[in-house]
Amino acid sequence: MSCAFDLAHYAELLDAARVGGYGFAFFDKDPEAGDLFLRHDVDLSLEAAVELAELEGAAGARATYFLMTTSVFYNLDSPVGVRAINRLRELGHAVGLHAVWPRVDLDERFDPVVAWHNPDADYMSEPVTRAANVMEPRFFSPQTYRSDSNQRWRSGCPHEALAAGAFEWLQLLIHPEIWVFPGATMRETMLSMLDAERERRLAQLAEDRIDLS
Ligand SMILES: [Zn+2]
Ligand SMILES: [Zn+2]
Repeated sequence: MSCAFDLAHYAELLDAARVGGYGFAFFDKDPEAGDLFLRHDVDLSLEAAVELAELEGAAGARATYFLMTTSVFYNLDSPVGVRAINRLRELGHAVGLHAVWPRVDLDERFDPVVAWHNPDADYMSEPVTRAANVMEPRFFSPQTYRSDSNQRWRSGCPHEALAAGAFEWLQLLIHPEIWVFPGATMRETMLSMLDAERERRLAQLAEDRIDLS
């Protein structure tokens, strides 16, 4: 099995979790043995988030999508943003806030759970008022956490350990853009994303009655 950052291997990871006997959990309770907390920090692309969410929905998987209200890359208040949240909810996923310190805009669109974007160590694990923080001590230990950040697993791809049931429970942080857009390196993946973005923007310009003839 090749541990590529692509949708085929993402489906294999979900399958490995099923083989290992894990169940999908949300951040509304303390971890128990066998829980898999699928966490998606949506940094760059709502389209990638929805594509991953559809794959998970078809595979019977449930995740928590953390969305930003102050992103420079997407607008959650736009029709695209509203459709994305609605679709994530329809598919049975949870939606949390991907917050930028120190602002916590937990409005009715979000479940009471926060994941900080690019946090500093001094507040990363601190409790958040009236919400769970995914990095607070009850949800985080190095043994029960894996992240795909920048297309690099610091402790290796978790598919084997998942299939073997080797984690007591796991918080698995997956950035949708990394898996949806092709590329062997983070740079290649980002260039693929920008190519797709150009096509998407051209379609939006046409919809906005811009003459592209
Ligand atoms: Zn793997
Ligand atoms: Zn982030």
